[in-house]
Amino acid sequence: MLKFLSPAPLHDPTASSTAATEVKTTTCYMCACRCGIRVHLRDGQVRYIDGNPAHPINQGVICAKGSSGIMKQVSPARLTQPLLRKAGAERGDAEFEPISWDRAFDIVTERLQKIRSTDPKKFALFTGRDQMQALTGLFARQFGTPNYAAHGGFCSVNMAAGMIYTIGGSFWEFGGPDLDHAKLFVMIGTAEDHHSNPMKIALSKFKRKGGRFISINPVRTGYSAIADEWIPIKPGTDGALFMALLHELIGSGLIDRPFLQRFTNAPQLVVLDQGEREGLFAFDPAAGPPGDGRNPHNKLAWDLASGRAVQAYPEGLQEGRQLALEGHYRLPDGTSVAPAFQLLRERVALNTPEWAAEITGIPADRIRQLARELGETALHQAFELPIPWIDAWGQRHESTRARPVAFHAMRGLAAHSNGFQTVRALAILMSLLGTIDAPGGFRHKAPYPRHIVPNYRAFNDPKMVKPNTPLNAAPLGFPASPDELAINDDGTPLRIDHAFSWEHPLAAHGLMHNVITNAVRGDPYTIDTLLIFMANMAWNSTMNTMEVRSKLNERGADGNYKIPFLVVCDAFQSEMVAFADLVLPDTTYLERHDVMSMLDRPISEYDGPVDSVRVPVVEPMGQCKPFQEVLIELASRLKFPAFTHEDGSRKFKDYPDFIVNYQAQPGVGFLMGWRGKDGTEQLRGEPNPRQWEMYAKNNCVFQYHLPQDQQYMRNWNRAYLDFAKDKGWRQKNDPVQLAIYSDTLQSFRLAAQGKTQGRQPPEALRERIATYFDPLPFWYAPLENGCVDTEAYPLSAITQRPMAMYHSWDSQNAWLRQIHSHNYLHVNPVTAQAAGVADGGWCWVTSAWGRVRCMVRYSDAVEPGTVWTWNAIGKGSGAWQLEAGADESRKGFLLNHLITEELPFAGGQISNSDPVTGQAGWYDVRVNIQPADPEEAEQTYPQVAPMRDLPGVLGGAKKVVAYFVNRKS
Ligand code: SF4
Repeated sequence: MLKFLSPAPLHDPTASSTAATEVKTTTCYMCACRCGIRVHLRDGQVRYIDGNPAHPINQGVICAKGSSGIMKQVSPARLTQPLLRKAGAERGDAEFEPISWDRAFDIVTERLQKIRSTDPKKFALFTGRDQMQALTGLFARQFGTPNYAAHGGFCSVNMAAGMIYTIGGSFWEFGGPDLDHAKLFVMIGTAEDHHSNPMKIALSKFKRKGGRFISINPVRTGYSAIADEWIPIKPGTDGALFMALLHELIGSGLIDRPFLQRFTNAPQLVVLDQGEREGLFAFDPAAGPPGDGRNPHNKLAWDLASGRAVQAYPEGLQEGRQLALEGHYRLPDGTSVAPAFQLLRERVALNTPEWAAEITGIPADRIRQLARELGETALHQAFELPIPWIDAWGQRHESTRARPVAFHAMRGLAAHSNGFQTVRALAILMSLLGTIDAPGGFRHKAPYPRHIVPNYRAFNDPKMVKPNTPLNAAPLGFPASPDELAINDDGTPLRIDHAFSWEHPLAAHGLMHNVITNAVRGDPYTIDTLLIFMANMAWNSTMNTMEVRSKLNERGADGNYKIPFLVVCDAFQSEMVAFADLVLPDTTYLERHDVMSMLDRPISEYDGPVDSVRVPVVEPMGQCKPFQEVLIELASRLKFPAFTHEDGSRKFKDYPDFIVNYQAQPGVGFLMGWRGKDGTEQLRGEPNPRQWEMYAKNNCVFQYHLPQDQQYMRNWNRAYLDFAKDKGWRQKNDPVQLAIYSDTLQSFRLAAQGKTQGRQPPEALRERIATYFDPLPFWYAPLENGCVDTEAYPLSAITQRPMAMYHSWDSQNAWLRQIHSHNYLHVNPVTAQAAGVADGGWCWVTSAWGRVRCMVRYSDAVEPGTVWTWNAIGKGSGAWQLEAGADESRKGFLLNHLITEELPFAGGQISNSDPVTGQAGWYDVRVNIQPADPEEAEQTYPQVAPMRDLPGVLGGAKKVVAYFVNRKS
């Protein structure tokens, strides 16, 4: 692997140096955690990277990835100039000619201009793990195409949507476990996390203080390795565990009843009579139109003290009221109703620990004990912080009650076709324990909590897709009812990925994983140009990889590619680049400006909002140009209204200028620090021309600490709600009641059952909607189980993200390759031996959709029904400037080859995703394993033809050697 190393000494520490040294601060991007770093330069070249002790996220801590950023900077795989596919060359052959940026811009501008002036939806923009969706989303909206999304649909939209539709916030960027005050911490479905260094710092403190840490996961890797207890669970069954925990907690009374009565919709009365109000909340017409996700504050509750229905808020909160959580009642007009909590109680009645044990593989007694531990810690070890606060209805609380049980969860729950309801079950479990925004429980991070349902409607009006016209709403959002779906009059999808259609109504992050398949099929229509940024759709960012690669090359009867033009913007020679018609070379994170904005994905802390930036610490290599600059340039050339003056002249000189001067609403821009003309305002204020300078001087971060009385209970905290509205984070200052019962989901179900007058799903989708849009959580087996023979494919196959690599980002990194250059399938010895597969031996892993050959390692750290491997270590031969025979391609493999992007459905096919949100069902795949024939080649299968070197690629390991010896070559 390192055969290029020179025999010359790498570094002589005794030699005197006259080199100029300096240290610059910026923000790491070796993963999505966004730690502060110090970049040490000598003669203007990066020599060393360490953590910035003054940064709130990582407090000086740095991980292996972060410190290896230096090798990303000099990676041989770096692209350095725009490239155009050679005339006559096939896509995938990687035959390119270098072109100038002027020509590249001319090509793209001319093409996009034509699309925009005729049929804007023929342009699709999909981006990978970028952190600037406020800009990319704005670009798509101004272009006038609904066909935009980032990577969330194939990452963790179930986590985001399941939590936001229930508690108004979510894990990671928008909230997390308060380990400073927790006594019990349960991590479930999380390996190495997005929130990497902060989680490690918090866990370290938590364990030193004697906190108890339980990890529930099919595999004991990452954080689980330091847990006090590992509880193995079968993939895709977490929802069954939560339902059983709810059964136990409700049955034993270990729940926070006063919290449920005041701060959730648990006491609100649900109509039980059949008809178009069935399953919706009863409401007081005098207090507003029918209550739904957009108007949740006019519902009724049953007051046991007076024996009558009262307005839940504020009447139900008056002194002397006793809101019923249980029972069945009749309203004065004879309507039969029951509190939402009663329905939850009925729902979990049969979800016994024995029932869940069969599904999850966790013994029933352990489930009972876990429920007891959770309930007793939350209720009996509760304590008060001396922080008075006033709730939304004016009641003063003399202290803030801690509920010291914290959870953390991520993709292990989300990446299943049952993930939305699973995540809802977890959020409801956390709510029943009273832990939401309480010390020791789950805490929000600004700008969350959002309204339930958030006040962001996705674009949904087919008539507004018009030539040369921006959309009248952002392409992504949160539907609150069927009326907000992005469908045509005949019910067909408006978007190329079918997001917000009846197939996936709450697809808040889009379905990137279906774009290529749909576009090639022309379903619902063909497109002209697909612009992909930072997503390796020809390899690890796609399901059914080999088939998708061939689709990228598919031609129609006219001989033209079915996706006529493919633009790829990437910093490295990834597998996807080979398929581009036009390649735009991006910079590294050390060469550009970036923002982690409150308009998008900030780095807020529990005690207040935080945003941060990247500033260039070195010049871009070759002709590399930040994608942000490309978008600003294109938006100006295409004369988008938000980017140009009436006379057609550009509003923004470049990306930094755009960031400083663009305002989403008066005084609210991308960055909240040092606002106002003289930089003296914060959070909200006029643009400050010197804002970048101030961030650069202040460790690239702005942090605002809320007063203590606004740091907790923010769903209902009067002072915080007023403050959040004033700063533009929320449209209203009304409280955010937790949705134990979701009338939003019920509104879709009623439509599917034909009980409402408005929009109804196509016949083929009625049963699907009616089943999965259940207003209460429930567990169902992952959808793949219903499509394959689970006896023939008895094992679940999953991936884990390694600590040393973030997806595929670092297989071209000379240091990190030394940690992972290939991967094994990890199998419990009992399972492997039963299949006759030897430790270290080669085996075939087969699903109903494909097969791979790989090497096996025995491991006790995986439950017997699961096999797993590291994510994205396997590479296509020659990609990323790796040698054709590199371990990554000969011994590394991708599980993606086994996973289908579509499942059979109603005589056709449908996305292999959660039916509610469109979250890709990565972890649903079922497989079997068999030993490979000893005569077979000892290399992974499938293999692809080696990718050739691209013009201008930095290339040559000798460059890396030159770096070590400080010689320029
Ligand atoms: S955790 Fe992520 S952001 Fe932080 S130092 Fe490591 S790679 Fe960089």
